[in-house]
Amino acid sequence: MDERIKRLRSLGTGQYKPRTTPDTREIVKFLEGIANNSFASSLVQHYKTKGWLSEKQLEAARKMRFEHRLNEAKTANAENLDGVDVDNLKSGMYYEPESKTIWNIYDNSECRKRVQHSLNWGKVPYGLLKLKILVAEGNAYKMTKEEQVALGQKTGICVLCGRLLEDEKSIAEGVGPICKKKLENGHEDF
Ligand SMILES: [Zn+2]
Repeated sequence: MDERIKRLRSLGTGQYKPRTTPDTREIVKFLEGIANNSFASSLVQHYKTKGWLSEKQLEAARKMRFEHRLNEAKTANAENLDGVDVDNLKSGMYYEPESKTIWNIYDNSECRKRVQHSLNWGKVPYGLLKLKILVAEGNAYKMTKEEQVALGQKTGICVLCGRLLEDEKSIAEGVGPICKKKLENGHEDF
């Protein structure tokens, strides 16, 4: 038999076994801790018999873990939430003071963030869930127009789009001309 075909055949046999990472063990531990959830127990059962979870299974489990944390945070801080509808966060700019990070929800569910002195937005895996947890914990809040402008003046970076403010007028106003219009018209989704 052709050597190449032999090699390909040997690759095709044997079961695909993703590597078990510390992350997997941590997630399985979490899954074992939730009672009365048939999906969670089926994943634990799968891990116990096969010794691994697929990337798809891990992803579903990670999402479950964030949702679980969110519910815990909501319960623990119910009194301090002060009418904030954590489950339906509006598009716009949020601020996490501890890490001086700006979070942006756009297109209703997409989430990106950047440190206030950085020009680069980063996409956040499970971003909306993570931001909901921060808001529920009282560690992030939705910025007012005034706060966005003030932060722009302080950093020299437009809070809304993350571009460097270049002309004197924009620097003084703390916001670029296009974003200023959006801010004035109440458009926060962009
Ligand atoms: Zn801007």
